[in-house]
Amino acid sequence: MQGSRQPRRTLTAPVVEPIPGESLTSWIGAVADQQDFEMKPLLRELHLDRLGGASAAEMRLSDTVARRMEKLTGVDAERLHAMTLARYAGNALPHLPLLPADGVAVQQWHKGAWFHHSQARWCPKCLRDTTDRRWLLRWKLPWSFACLDHGVYLVTECQACWDPVRFPHDAPPEQTCENWTDEGEWTHDLGQRCGFPLIMSQPVAVSDDSVLALQARVNAWLDGSPTHEDRQLVALAAVLIPLVSPSMVRRGDPLLQYALRSPRGTSQRKRDGRRPWTDSLRVAAAVCAADGRVRRSYSATEVAEWIADHRFIDHRRMPWHMDMAELAYGPALRPNPFVEPLVHRGLITLGGWL
Ligand SMILES: [Zn+2]
Ligand SMILES: [Zn+2]
Repeated sequence: MQGSRQPRRTLTAPVVEPIPGESLTSWIGAVADQQDFEMKPLLRELHLDRLGGASAAEMRLSDTVARRMEKLTGVDAERLHAMTLARYAGNALPHLPLLPADGVAVQQWHKGAWFHHSQARWCPKCLRDTTDRRWLLRWKLPWSFACLDHGVYLVTECQACWDPVRFPHDAPPEQTCENWTDEGEWTHDLGQRCGFPLIMSQPVAVSDDSVLALQARVNAWLDGSPTHEDRQLVALAAVLIPLVSPSMVRRGDPLLQYALRSPRGTSQRKRDGRRPWTDSLRVAAAVCAADGRVRRSYSATEVAEWIADHRFIDHRRMPWHMDMAELAYGPALRPNPFVEPLVHRGLITLGGWL
């Protein structure tokens, strides 16, 4: 077997810096490019293989691994931890299971957590701004619906094949859409990859500044500095995401009403396993509708009545079937004062087992 071993390599200083708000996998991809490293040896070198790979590491880094990475890359442990989803645990995400290897706990965490596990959403203009196409961590959360720097809604689908773009496992985000196309479907070909460059997507401009102001408030909550009103806004938006209907967003950006009316906006019942929060326009609509109620200081009971009335107008009487795990962890927004009156009125039904 001698001779088949590659000589051991280490990183050469200076290692490329993460950009503000970057996700761990994006930065690791940039490091691999800069240092001319293959992904596997790089993960091994950083000891990320011990945490279960890059995707698992992006959930949470252990202190030992973070310290090793700090030593090797010069990026301090605090910044490394900030590139992982753990920063949102107990806020936009449920608390992480104590033991990463606890299969049941991890499974339940995934059931209750609102985040885009492998589905990409992105601001093409942000990607264009960085020469090596860096991806932001908060794009992984449904709570990011617009880019404040560019005043556009985040893109959620490939604009060539109109399907969601998926991140590869344990690898940095792709630069092109890797979805299989129908070409060659009836022959013995293996088919063709779509190949559309993600930076070429045209984002939709936000036509109403209040949408951007609301994204800024949601960001304040994500970053851990919300006001009481911001908290109320997010708690109500969380229950409105599955329940919002077109007549609830009569004012503001008309695009949001169209989005809720379109077959895409209405067929939210798990098309392709998608959950209501995977549509950034729907999330934006829910936050706008929530803002109107919070500003009028509606009580939780008044909110429930208002939702019931509007869903009646829009002929949407299907309740939201909430899984018990989702309720327990919620969108991690416990206690959420708006849930109980909605359950009471039958707008939310509970099911499943913990
Ligand atoms: Zn942007
Ligand atoms: Zn595509």
